[in-house]
Amino acid sequence: MLAILLMAPTTACSAAPRHVQDTRPMIALTFDDGPAQHTDRILDLLERYGGQATFFVVGRSVEEWQETIRRTINLGSEVANHTWLHPDLTDISDQRIRAELQTTSAIIEQITGLPRPPFFRPPFGLTDERVAGIAAELGYAIVTWTLDTRDWEVRNADSVYNIIMNEAEEGSVILMHDTHGTTADAMERVIPELIARGYRLVTVSELLYSLYGELKPGRIYGTYAFP
Ligand code: ZN
Repeated sequence: MLAILLMAPTTACSAAPRHVQDTRPMIALTFDDGPAQHTDRILDLLERYGGQATFFVVGRSVEEWQETIRRTINLGSEVANHTWLHPDLTDISDQRIRAELQTTSAIIEQITGLPRPPFFRPPFGLTDERVAGIAAELGYAIVTWTLDTRDWEVRNADSVYNIIMNEAEEGSVILMHDTHGTTADAMERVIPELIARGYRLVTVSELLYSLYGELKPGRIYGTYAFP
């Protein structure tokens, strides 16, 4: 019987192997301000449970954490731009904004060997028309978030866990920081439990592409926008 089942598909062998679509609802976990000492623990969990995430790194930390950056890419996760020195972009010159974005993308491309993602996340989520104009000129969309865990403020794993498990839904872009051990602690439960609830943990690129197609430079993606 088994042999017959294995033989049967040969009758339709002219077709190329079909890609099996993963139709699970998607959530994008995002971690800002690293790489840092807790990043690898989060990568361990993503590797163990089979998920991806996006790490919005500060350019000045990239060189020190090259191995972590390369591991992030090798696990299918994403490294994206969170500026070089983490300034409020609305408060610095046009020239400095360009330098913050371009130096960070350059080191990301150098270490990953991949083209930079077509977006960045502004420090503190702060942006305005001038910043958006420069982003458009340089070919970046602006990505904020839809769910803020306030992890940097509360520094409490249970709180981060509860916010995510109560509020995350299909299409959520969740803001966290891999600079805090309490956030990595929360991920010990959050990552396996979101997967057990049927979600697929994907990169920002994959989620936004599935929702919007190509991203528009200068446009803000995320429900959080500069007040
Ligand atoms: Zn930040």
